[in-house]
Amino acid sequence: MHWKTESYDLLREDWIPILWCNGRFSRAGIREVLTKAHRIKQIAAPNPMDRVAIIRFLLALLYWSKGNPPNDAHGVVGESFPESWFQRLEDADTFRLLGHGQRFYQDPSAQRCRPITDLLQEIPTGNNFWHFRHATDYTDGLCPRCIALGLLRLPLFAVSGLPNLMAGINGAPPIYAVPCGASLYDTLVSNWLPRMPLGEPTWAGTQTAPNPHDDVPLLEGLTLRSRKVWLHEPCGATRPCVGCGKNDVLIYKCGFETAGKQENDRWHDPHVFYLSTSPRQALRAADLTKATAFRMDRPWRDLFKAILDTGRHVSTGKATSLLVVGLATDKAKYIDVWERTIQLRPRSSEEETVCLGVSSLTESPPTMSSKETAITRLTQWQHQVKTLEEIVGRRKGSILGKFAASSIQPHIEDGLSSKSGEVLNGSSKVWQDAEHQYQFLMKIMARALYPAFTTVALSRQEELISKISIYQKNRAKHDKTTERKRDANDTD
Ligand SMILES: [Zn+2]
Repeated sequence: MHWKTESYDLLREDWIPILWCNGRFSRAGIREVLTKAHRIKQIAAPNPMDRVAIIRFLLALLYWSKGNPPNDAHGVVGESFPESWFQRLEDADTFRLLGHGQRFYQDPSAQRCRPITDLLQEIPTGNNFWHFRHATDYTDGLCPRCIALGLLRLPLFAVSGLPNLMAGINGAPPIYAVPCGASLYDTLVSNWLPRMPLGEPTWAGTQTAPNPHDDVPLLEGLTLRSRKVWLHEPCGATRPCVGCGKNDVLIYKCGFETAGKQENDRWHDPHVFYLSTSPRQALRAADLTKATAFRMDRPWRDLFKAILDTGRHVSTGKATSLLVVGLATDKAKYIDVWERTIQLRPRSSEEETVCLGVSSLTESPPTMSSKETAITRLTQWQHQVKTLEEIVGRRKGSILGKFAASSIQPHIEDGLSSKSGEVLNGSSKVWQDAEHQYQFLMKIMARALYPAFTTVALSRQEELISKISIYQKNRAKHDKTTERKRDANDTD
């Protein structure tokens, strides 16, 4: 066996993919990642779902080990996490993937036998569409590193499906927005905010669904698993893992079944934006494969508005990156996963002056703050797009309108989203750029839809029709004259 121990200890085995600040890539265990977080640039998993899942898992470990941040956590803690903070992890003995006794994120009551690839959404199996590869159930296996990543996704990205599988605590997977800093240490500190109650993570004992009438403690909500999983034993010679390609002794099947209903409206996820509370509605990634008359790029307008409304990430007064990850689903189908890093930065005094002085695009009075200006412009954007959707939707026969709207609008929105920092700062220039781009695209579309040869062809057609009409009139006149002459001859 290639592993150091048959139990696969997640504290020490090298399984978390990391990019060091010096540019080197490697994998490391939980202990090394936490104690050297200041030297690690970021989590380097290729799938953004894993990046979000790992950061949230490390955050849960930090809360569990140290509790809420000390008063001086932001800046005075030092430049790294002391090793002594994580002694609780060593004592717990709950981070083993295999072996006897308690296993990490597993439940021995999971009886329904399934291929191990059920843990990773991006691996096409069974009768799913073939892409560049396809996995065969129970024949292709996963290494313990990929299995650990799959287990960490269970609280975040589960969907409802047959047989009686149910979504996790957040319901259909929402969009997750995670603040990220210059190093993994900065990232964890940025997310380590005082929260009450903390509760206990599900790895510390038996998991039970929280009471739907009570607030859900932070650690319970972060770690509540949507599936019961029990790994079967690894077997056979070393083979390439279907997840990462690395040669290893693999696991091919597991117990995998629903963990029951977990969706809970009393849970306030620290990385989710809620659009409404009653009924509870979280911001979600749209299924762009659905054939609709009007197709947006991504829910940028709602996302930007939610960031400003909550002030959750823009009130810190320092530059921040926001890792935004959404898994688009259609009931039990996984459609796609998308990510975008939004740069948030405080407005410079020069920009503030420019913002307050320019109000030509909106009716904003010059006394508005940059945040109010940004909100006003985003509200106007939402209103205008809604009006456009209504007009286009109402005119069912207007193919031209639908075509123009669904072609141009996502393009403009994509351009705006790539300048998220300026949009959130209430910058006027980014909106002027969007307006110019819109006019430019409309001109191109106008030329494409009404080319010159069509106009010429129409003129010729009209000319021909008029000539045919004259010919038919002359022909009828001629026929009548001929008939009259024949009648006269017959009489004679
Ligand atoms: Zn693997």
